[in-house]
Amino acid sequence: MDEHGKALEWSKIDKQTWRIKRGKAGSVTARYLVYANEFGDRTRGLNDEHAFVDPATTFMFVKNQLDVPITVTVTPFGNWHVTTGLVQLGDKQNAFTATNYEYFADCPIEIGNQNDFVFDVDGVPHDLMIAGNGDWDEKKIIPDLVKLVKANKNFWGRLPYKRYVFMVEVYPNFGGGTEHINSTIMQTRPFAFQNPDSYKRFLGLVSHEYFHTWNVKQLRPRGITPYDYTKENYVNELWVAEGTTSYYGELMLVRTGFITPEEFLNTVAQGIRDDRLRPGNRVQSVSESSFDAWVKYWRGRQNAYNAESDYYSKGSHVSLLLDLEIRHTSKNKHSLDDVMRTMFERFPLGKGYAVDDLQKVCEEMAGGNLEQFFQQYVRGTAPIPWEQFLGYAGLRLEKKDAGPKPWLGIMTSDRDGQTRIYRVIAGSPSYDAGLDVDDEVLALNGFRVNSNDLTNRIAEMKGGDTVKLTVFRNDVLRKFEITLRNQEVLDYQIAPVGSPTELQKAILDDWLKTNWGNAKN
Ligand SMILES: [Zn+2]
Repeated sequence: MDEHGKALEWSKIDKQTWRIKRGKAGSVTARYLVYANEFGDRTRGLNDEHAFVDPATTFMFVKNQLDVPITVTVTPFGNWHVTTGLVQLGDKQNAFTATNYEYFADCPIEIGNQNDFVFDVDGVPHDLMIAGNGDWDEKKIIPDLVKLVKANKNFWGRLPYKRYVFMVEVYPNFGGGTEHINSTIMQTRPFAFQNPDSYKRFLGLVSHEYFHTWNVKQLRPRGITPYDYTKENYVNELWVAEGTTSYYGELMLVRTGFITPEEFLNTVAQGIRDDRLRPGNRVQSVSESSFDAWVKYWRGRQNAYNAESDYYSKGSHVSLLLDLEIRHTSKNKHSLDDVMRTMFERFPLGKGYAVDDLQKVCEEMAGGNLEQFFQQYVRGTAPIPWEQFLGYAGLRLEKKDAGPKPWLGIMTSDRDGQTRIYRVIAGSPSYDAGLDVDDEVLALNGFRVNSNDLTNRIAEMKGGDTVKLTVFRNDVLRKFEITLRNQEVLDYQIAPVGSPTELQKAILDDWLKTNWGNAKN
């Protein structure tokens, strides 16, 4: 409508654009309703407890006017209040402002009876917002947040914001987080804070999201600089944006003492098993996985494990390798830490980078050519020689299991009294025998089995044994004969070598901020 309340003519011209015939109107007001029940996606939600708004998913923008300053006024329900990283507009309590749409779109808003705790790190105000009930204790959480903030400030050199808000929603059924320009929204279950293991996972989430404040929110791939809100934004560097962030998310936990070097190395050892087991790592590079995220990664396709790599986990592995490679080649003068800092300084917000820029800085720090490394592990699908890279830090990869283990090669889940196959690993005995996703497993060698039974019975057999698996496929009873093979990829553990060189010791100590003697597994 116009400034007199007169309705203006409008039409929808594509899936996201509405055209309003302005005519002689001095100002135009558009009113619209959005459906809001997506708390779990951290986009927008409203119920009788609280509301969450990610502006990018809620507020329209005027075409070609993304650079115009924005103000928003919230009318909270009842006694609810607002928490957001946006700047308050003058002394107006529920009015906020941003210099342009991109900044505005990147500041989520929580409205409800959430708790807000303000604390200060080196003179910069930080907020911890907690919505929802659970066993959280802000007196325990805030000192840990301060440690993470300080560790990151040390790492990057400075805090790239004037104020930061850690937004935590504590509700059952939701988990994960999303990074934003000067805030992050994280979701965790009500009883995640007192149990030491789940609290470590919570700190891991915080550490990951907070590292993003630099890696992605400031230092950004060119493909998302600036964002184009109207279509897919293609990037080859999500393995840096997400993978390197995952790598440092964990590393920061070791360096701040939240987890031990042993715990860190155990996670790496598990990752090595997953890396070697996943057939998709031989098919799709991390660079392709990044580029195809719009059509593949988030679709949860049945053949993802067999045909795709994962730019989070593989990206984190490639980052770890790069780190050790640079430390080894530069005789521990430099590391991936220097690369990230240099990238942050050279590619400030607004000036995106491409993978070639990253390679150049890595080569500068390593003092050598890394073309082969990037060709093999970033743009290619070469298997990772973990033994060699761990060796640079004086570590060796050991097999955890004594003897050979028989392998079937399927993964099943139990639901509503049915056991169904959700994954058949390419190249496994089950794959060769013709088993398929969605087959309902009934019996092994004539005896009814669920997922647990299946694992336990197979474990009692040996490679070369033949088993009969009875399944329903499309409601038809089918029998498959499968010859088990011994598993090639086993469980690993990582331990220090017997007599390390001075360089190996120096690399390990500097990498995990430990002492060689403490790294024994
Ligand atoms: Zn992330």
